Amino acid sequence: MQNTTHANCLRCGRTLRTAKSQAAGYGAKCAAKVRNAPVDTTDYKTHQITSARELIEDGAIIPLRSVIFITVSTDGTETYKTAPTGCTCPAGTKGSRCYHTLAAQMLLAA
Ligand SMILES: [Zn+2]
Ligand SMILES: [Zn+2]
Repeated sequence: MQNTTHANCLRCGRTLRTAKSQAAGYGAKCAAKVRNAPVDTTDYKTHQITSARELIEDGAIIPLRSVIFITVSTDGTETYKTAPTGCTCPAGTKGSRCYHTLAAQMLLAA
């Protein structure tokens, strides 16, 4: 995973002051909101839900514009464009539901 740090909250734009927030890209309040986002996860497998949360906590899903996000692959070598309904990752391009789309839904619902 990439070790990018963020100076500002990806959600509200506030300056991030702790190393933990800077790594995640979210302040404590926004992180809690994202964690508790009311998203229907019934169509996703448990490991996908875990991966989606990790993706967010690692700051590896970054808002691009409106509902489009840039997501970073698990090995950090590739980036994908992700919307709540689709993704350019290998699974997404095959029409499978990937955890990137779940992470996007979580961020948009928070
Ligand atoms: Zn925030
Ligand atoms: Zn994907």
